[in-house]
This record gives sequence, C-alpha cells and structure tokens, in this order.
Amino acid sequence: MKFLILGAGYAGLTVAHKLRRYLNDEITVISESRVVRENTIFPLLLTDEVKVEETEFDAKVAMERKGVNFVEGRVTQILPESREAKTDKGTFDYDYLFLALGGGYEENFRRIPGHENAVMHHTLDGFLKLKEMLWNTEGNVFVGNAPGSPIEGPSYQVALIAEYILRRRGVKGKVYLATQSPKGVFGPIPLDWVHEKANSYFERRGISVLKGKAVKEIKRGKVVLSDGQEVEADVISVLPSLSAPKVVRDAGLAGNSGFVEVKLPSFRKDDRIFALGDLAQTPFPRTARAAMISAENAVSSVLREVKGLELPMYSLGVLCVMEGGDDGGILRFDTNGKEVKTTLAFGKSYVTIKKLYSKLLVKRAFDVPYHGALTVEIRYNFSP
Ligand SMILES: Cc1cc2nc3c(=O)[nH]c(=O)nc-3n(C[C@H](O)[C@H](O)[C@H](O)COP(=O)(O)OP(=O)(O)OC[C@H]3O[C@@H](n4cnc5c(N)ncnc54)[C@H](O)[C@@H]3O)c2cc1C
Repeated sequence: MKFLILGAGYAGLTVAHKLRRYLNDEITVISESRVVRENTIFPLLLTDEVKVEETEFDAKVAMERKGVNFVEGRVTQILPESREAKTDKGTFDYDYLFLALGGGYEENFRRIPGHENAVMHHTLDGFLKLKEMLWNTEGNVFVGNAPGSPIEGPSYQVALIAEYILRRRGVKGKVYLATQSPKGVFGPIPLDWVHEKANSYFERRGISVLKGKAVKEIKRGKVVLSDGQEVEADVISVLPSLSAPKVVRDAGLAGNSGFVEVKLPSFRKDDRIFALGDLAQTPFPRTARAAMISAENAVSSVLREVKGLELPMYSLGVLCVMEGGDDGGILRFDTNGKEVKTTLAFGKSYVTIKKLYSKLLVKRAFDVPYHGALTVEIRYNFSP
C-alpha cells in the first residue's frame, strides 16, 4: 500500500513515524523544506534563551534513516478523484492520504488590512523582526489576534516576554494584549477561576488586557480593534485567523469554516483521506500537541483497518506552557467526557521543562508519542 503524507510538521512527521513503527509499506512525505523547525519554542528566541539552530532539524535525513521517502517539493494540486497529489517534483499517487500542510498562516496574515504595518509572531522571520523591534522600541507594544483566530497562547507569551524586555530595558512603554474572549486570558476555558487567576497574573505583570477585542485593521503606529477602539503602539504583533491552505481549499476538501471537516477522534475526512493538525476543523485551539494527537488517532484508525490492531485514541484538550521572560506558567485543560484535568500555575520551572521537551522533539524529529493526553473510549460498531 502507498501512504502519502503532505507536510512535514508535527502532524505529518508523527504520521510517518507511527506508520513505520507498524508497517513496511511505501511511505512518502512531501514538504516544501527539509529543514523543519520546532516553532512552539520560538518565543524564547526573543530573549536569546534559545538559538535558531537549536529549533531545527533535517527531516529528510530523519525520514530516510527509517526508510521513509522524503520529497522536498511544493504541493500544487490535490486530486481526490484520481487519488493523486501534484507537486513541482512530479505527481504522486496514494492509497491513503494524510493532509498535514498546516494552517495557511501567511496567506491569512496578508488578508488583514494594513498587515504591512505589523509582524506576525508565527514564522521565524516574524520572530526575528519582532526581537529587533522589542529591543529597540521606546514606545508601546500591542499583541493580539484577528477575529476567529484559533490559537491565542502565542500572543499571551509574546505579551509577557515584551513586558519583561521593556522592564529590563527601563522603557516606560505599555504592553497591550487583546483577547478575543470577553473573559480575557484563557477565556474559552469553561471555569471562571481559570480566567480570573490568569487575568490577575497578567495585570500584576503590568499588561493591559483588552478583553473581547480582535484586530480589525492595522495602521502605521496604530491598531483598530473590533469595537472601534484605537490603540497606539510602536510594535504591533498579530496572529491571523486561520484556514486550511489554498491548495487544500481548491481541491474542494474544506467546508464553510475554511477548515477540513473531519470525524473525531479519527480525523477522517473520507475513506482514503485524513486531515490533521492546524487544517482540520475542531472545537479546540490549533496546537502542536493537537496536531500530534490527530496524527496518532488517524494512524490508529488506519492500522485497525489494515492490520486489525486496536490502539488507543486520545482526546484533544489545551496544554499551554507560557514562556514569560523571567517567569512562566502552564495551563492544562483536558477532558474525555468522563474525566477533567485542569491546572493553572506560574513559575519559571515550567519553561525549563518545556525547553527540555522541545530539545527532545528536535532530537527525535517529532517522534515523541507521549502527549499527556486522556484516552477516549471508542465503540467499534461504527467507522471511527
Ligand atoms: C509562537 C508559537 C508558539 C506556539 N506554542 C505552542 C505550544 O506551546 N504548544 C502547542 O501545542 N502548540 C503551540 N503552537 C502551535 C503549533 O506550532 C501549531 O499548531 C503546529 O505547528 C501545527 O502543526 P501542523 O503539523 O498542523 O502544521 P505545521 O507545523 O505548520 O506543518 C505544516 C508543514 O507543511 C508544509 N507546507 C505547507 N504548505 C505546503 C505546500 N503547499 N507544499 C509543501 N509543503 C507545504 C510547511 O512548510 C510545514 O512544514 C505555537 C505556535 C506558534 C507560532
């Protein structure tokens, strides 16, 4: 059988590792660059706690060592009818296809009116620009998200680190953090004590939390928010709303939400296609952990089909380690319908643990199957 994986991020590489653990079949990963970066640790680039080289690895070497084909190429068209994907390196056919091309960050950032007046705290380039700005500004810093953006954790981290840098430099400028939820930081978590404790931590750090506001437009030195409020800032860093990338939408695979609608917990789109990570529609934030869990669950579904194996499936949740300059914190909210696990705590030790975990991810090319997630019970009288 031929297994084709599009995208060598958290989801794509997790699929490849797990398939190879159980099968000797032909597995191919196609991704635009063989250099892959562990981007959840990027906020630490702002304070030089981590160097760029420490975040990256060569996915082609890691895959070929396991007998997985790696094609460094750009996916240009997906043809579900003929079970093919076209790339600038040729056409590839498949029996099973795993879509793992991420959340179309750059194309969505370009849709924000006035985006050229801001940076995006997602790409390496965005972080390097932001670093230079934070260490040179004498003014205010604004951090926020465009409407409907499904991940706010990086914005919390950037706001905390910005406050630390301004404090260290003795700059009087203010740090503003806009949260989409009117409840503020971690607002979507359905427990009042969580956002109350989180908001008061951010306020103690001197950060102005602008609750229930998204970025509508960016002007030179100014952000216009969804309620019309204008915030003056010298440094503006924004995360866009996301969608499945254009190549996936053009193939007719995305729904009205712009993401690919899948069955949960298997992340199955149809008989032969799984849609994983940032490009799949789920009610949870788009995170690396969720991307790896989606990949675990998808491969378990395939292995059940082709080998009769019954492996555990995991529930999605929220696990956010906040890198915050001279402090840090952790939020965990996991539920599988029966059990609920919630933690919100602060301290620099969580950042130390995250740095170790990040090193492991890089060293093992994302082959780290433990995600601290809860298992979900699957009744196999329906197609998982
Ligand atoms: C600053 C920051 C901090 C974060 N912190 C956390 C955190 O603490 N915890 C957490 O769990 N998550 C965190 N996240 C979120 C996490 O990084 C993403 O959710 C994760 O990258 C999604 O993984 P993915 O496999 O779906 O996509 P990606 O990792 O984006 O991988 C997609 C791959 O596909 C390739 N690709 C895309 N289009 C094409 C094409 N047309 N042809 C060929 N290749 C293509 C890309 O180059 C990329 O290699 C953070 C994100 C950021 C930016």
